[in-house]
Amino acid sequence: MKSKLDTGSSIFTIMTELSNKHDAINLSQGFPGFNPDPRLLELVCKYIRSDNNQYAPMAGIPALQDCIAEKIKKFYGRTIDARQEVTICDGATEGLFSVIQAVVYPNDEVIVFDPAYDNYGPDIVLAGAITRHVPLIRTKERNDYHIDWQKLKDTINEKTKLIILNFPHNPTGAILRSEDLDTLADILRDTSIYIMSDEVYEHIVFDGKKHLSLASHDELWSRSFVISSFGKTFHATGWKVGYCAAPIELSKEMRQIHQWTCYSVVTPIQHGLAEFMHTYPDYIESLSSFYEAKRDYFCKLIEPSKFSYQVSAGSFYQLLDYSGISEEKDTSFAKKLTEEIGVASIPISVFYETPPFEQKLRFCFAKEDGILEQAAEKLCRL
Ligand code: PMP
Ligand code: GLN
Repeated sequence: MKSKLDTGSSIFTIMTELSNKHDAINLSQGFPGFNPDPRLLELVCKYIRSDNNQYAPMAGIPALQDCIAEKIKKFYGRTIDARQEVTICDGATEGLFSVIQAVVYPNDEVIVFDPAYDNYGPDIVLAGAITRHVPLIRTKERNDYHIDWQKLKDTINEKTKLIILNFPHNPTGAILRSEDLDTLADILRDTSIYIMSDEVYEHIVFDGKKHLSLASHDELWSRSFVISSFGKTFHATGWKVGYCAAPIELSKEMRQIHQWTCYSVVTPIQHGLAEFMHTYPDYIESLSSFYEAKRDYFCKLIEPSKFSYQVSAGSFYQLLDYSGISEEKDTSFAKKLTEEIGVASIPISVFYETPPFEQKLRFCFAKEDGILEQAAEKLCRL
């Protein structure tokens, strides 16, 4: 049978399988090498034991919707209607899918910024739409990966339905500056283009900087779907619980798809997360410093190696440039590194429509220090 989606396996599946096959240290797929907080585990178990094992409401349990609304007020200054504007999803992945299916129609165009997380493209294809790729750029004036505003303006046309943002950015670790949101607002002002902002790393931002959610911007909020994931924030990627926050009319549209693809999300985990967030509000605030220490430690360990890097500004990924070691293409170098050196990473060219000539790999540093030490020791041998 001819596949509807001819995409092959995701790079995360490929690299994790290769890593397992060669018993390598897996710094490829982005998942923490440690468990959620024991108090959170206890709470989830408590709710399982106390008969909270049947369907949750379609949009999520009220206590968790409330926690998210409070969090958005606390971090981004926006008051939202928890019942109508927060939808608990089956991971951020389902939120992304539901938003795209809800607002994008056949032959519409959707703009993504390359390197772009690999879910967006297939979701857009399934909506019958066309993906337009705008590469992030680095310039002399601004050397982090950022949006090329002129290219964005040139790409927008009457078919453009949706723009997908992802900051803190996977895989580069770049973050937004406040002038970015203002510039985007200027560009979109006279259009009816929606924004989907994938903010799954919203609570992992370094060096005293703040994450700029689309929820924080008065003008942009009215056209935005903000997607996040509890997997990243609570070291629980396997739980697959996330959310979509969006103004009422947008949330209604998104729920049209959510209710038929997923309906509702695992009940005891929603209860456990709600009680945990309510009881330990400081947990989230400690996350950035926890990961900043990991980033700094990993970079210090890599310092004597032939890799070069610019420190990540957010997320739990660090790009390492191997041009001082090899001229090979990143896909084959990542394979060799896994098979021969024993460290798995993600080649970033797979996230581009037209990959630039860059020798960069993405390493996930959300691991115990001992694992980072072992990986760095191997990488320093090159
Ligand atoms: N968006 C980005 C940018 C990601 O890195 C990931 C991976 N966690 C997701 C979405 C998917 O999140 P979830 O596991 O909650 O579906
Ligand atoms: N988001 C994770 C990453 O970027 C992987 C998620 C997945 O395996 N689909 O590595």
